[in-house]
Amino acid sequence: DNAQPKKPSWIRVKAPGGEGYNATRRILREHNLSTVCEEAGCPNAGECWSQGHATMMIMGEICTRGCTFCNVATGKPDTLDAFEPGRVADAVQKLGLNHVVITSVDRDDLKDGGAEHFAQTIRAIRHRSPGTTIEILTPDFLKCTDDVLEVVVDARPDVFNHNLETVPGLYPTVRPGARYFHSLRLLQRVKELDPTIFTKSGIMVGLGEDRQGVTQVMDDMRAADIDFLTIGQYLQPTPKHHVVDRFVTPDEFKAYEKAAFGKGFLMVSATPLTRSSYHAGDDFDRLRKA
Ligand code: SF4
Ligand code: SF4
Repeated sequence: DNAQPKKPSWIRVKAPGGEGYNATRRILREHNLSTVCEEAGCPNAGECWSQGHATMMIMGEICTRGCTFCNVATGKPDTLDAFEPGRVADAVQKLGLNHVVITSVDRDDLKDGGAEHFAQTIRAIRHRSPGTTIEILTPDFLKCTDDVLEVVVDARPDVFNHNLETVPGLYPTVRPGARYFHSLRLLQRVKELDPTIFTKSGIMVGLGEDRQGVTQVMDDMRAADIDFLTIGQYLQPTPKHHVVDRFVTPDEFKAYEKAAFGKGFLMVSATPLTRSSYHAGDDFDRLRKA
């Protein structure tokens, strides 16, 4: 049964289009790059792309995992494209980005989970656009040895983001194949390896969690020294995906935001349309100026 609560008025999506949007689209197409904005059918694409902000998704469009909230295809992934880091760096330069977010599918088929490819992409961007701050949103490297994380950390991204996605109790139905405490520990290890890197994580709400569960996740994140937090409403990409349990109200989001700042997060974005890469650059800029 896919009976779902009706979309409330506060979930409003701006139709994509316009000059800036088309320019971003053209640059991405010319460089043969995928974005999570498109893959996930992100409701903010109209707004983000018109400002040149897109989250590029590296290592192909096919994922080895099958998270039930995610619209990315599951299957046997593409072979790694050695030229991709260069194309990403070129696109970042052409888009003139102050801050870029790079993410990827999960690559359980690769021995290093794609760590070296991430590192190469960071280095290529750094080389071409030394003034651009780099945020990566990585898989969990669950099947890899511990040292692969060092490969990514050594490339020194400015922000290391890995999403916990939901409360631990919902992992079996939302994020099968992942382990809550492994993901937490991953972020904690990033901080231990290089305390100058900001760590970031996020969850979706409206999947069936309760407020106490969300509070517990925040506490777990702070205990793992995570700096930035995003909380957004889960939206079902297609009727085959996990159902929306409920729409969390804007006031509840405000309460989450307040609680999170109270727990010591340096940056918090908690609104219905918050996505882990939403306004990431603006927020980071604000922090640097503070
Ligand atoms: Fe893309 Fe992130 Fe903006 Fe969504 S919020 S359109 S995923 S950059
Ligand atoms: Fe989607 Fe990431 Fe899960 Fe793959 S690992 S199915 S890309 S959320």
